[in-house]
Amino acid sequence: MRDPRPVHGRACASAVVLLVVVGLLAACASATPAGGDAAPVPEGVTSPAGRDPAADDPSSPGPAPGAQGGHAGDRGPDLSAHSPDDPSSPWVVVNKARPLDRAYVPELTEVRGYLLHPAAATDLTALLAAAEEDGVHLTVRSAYRSAEYQARVHDGWVAQLGRERAEQVSARPGHSEHQTGLAVDLGSTTQPGCDFSDCFGSTPEGRWLVEHATDFGFLLRYTAANQDLTGFAPEGWHLRHVGRELSAHLARERVDTLEELFDVPGGDRYP
Ligand SMILES: [Zn+2]
Repeated sequence: MRDPRPVHGRACASAVVLLVVVGLLAACASATPAGGDAAPVPEGVTSPAGRDPAADDPSSPGPAPGAQGGHAGDRGPDLSAHSPDDPSSPWVVVNKARPLDRAYVPELTEVRGYLLHPAAATDLTALLAAAEEDGVHLTVRSAYRSAEYQARVHDGWVAQLGRERAEQVSARPGHSEHQTGLAVDLGSTTQPGCDFSDCFGSTPEGRWLVEHATDFGFLLRYTAANQDLTGFAPEGWHLRHVGRELSAHLARERVDTLEELFDVPGGDRYP
């Protein structure tokens, strides 16, 4: 989802950035706004294989039954450990069919001037540092957003794009993962004009996320392949924190969405 959510006194600068982004979007045929959770499909970002570095690893077929040295993790996490329904759960599933209480506010801490849940903040800090070591410099563009703020974001996209398109790219208030504090939108330093746009997926930063986000407990939540299930257009910049155990499990099992994993409703329609 677009729209920066600065913490301290950066509202003016962010507003300027947003205006620039909006202008760039208007100038880029493939660009899509993102007040919610989606934008067009960056190639590469939408590749399931790209999200699953373990998929092609012939060395990890899993241990033989009864083999000594097998790890508990080989059986995957206990999926009943955290609820997909509790807003404070690290595995909460929020989509068009599954709203949050609009009054819900998560525990939050600051990362690079933005607010995130502490668990997500820790892993994001590690992700950003690892990217830097690889010479990839990501920016944080948006993180926690209250329902009230999301309402303004959504209204803005409806005004700009019309309701039909806005609903594909922007969540209504109470239906955004950003309200959980577990979602973050990242940007490119080499091609900042691609932030919140289709072309983000082809930037060095977007490609790095395809390869490595899972390693740090994040999912690229909205892809072309899962749009029917998530209800939102693809967004190569939107990461959802679920923790490293679950992100590894999803990659290993080639499960693309939280909706499928927990067998909960999703899709394009609001109740
Ligand atoms: Zn987002």
